[in-house]
Amino acid sequence: MDCLFCKIIDREIPGDIVYEDDQVLAFNDINPQAPTHILIVPKQHIATLNDIKEDDLALVGRLQYTAAKLASKQGFAEDGYRVVMNCNEQGGQTVYHIHMHLMGGRRFTWPAG
Ligand code: C5P
Repeated sequence: MDCLFCKIIDREIPGDIVYEDDQVLAFNDINPQAPTHILIVPKQHIATLNDIKEDDLALVGRLQYTAAKLASKQGFAEDGYRVVMNCNEQGGQTVYHIHMHLMGGRRFTWPAG
């Protein structure tokens, strides 16, 4: 499968990996939008949020759980942080393997652009 994030998961291309378990991988975003910008991805290939099945719910919850744990490890859990998942073209998705952006270390504004 020609999927960039599957290739990072499979070590076919390098990623700056900060966390891994049997179900998820987390690595620093190549184009950070905050002092810390980590992508948390399931090892299972799911193209978009629209493709999540009921069997995947625990896995999707694990992405959020991992984000909170990494925020704590990075030291900005108490100050606050932003998590984002983009879906399809108008949502700003550019890589079609679901991923959670974890951004911290600065103040974020709302609404998102
Ligand atoms: O939500 P979206 O699909 O736009 O996010 C994709 C993210 O993947 C971008 O933030 C981009 O910088 C990141 N990326 C990366 N390493 C690559 C290609 C893209 O971290 N080799």
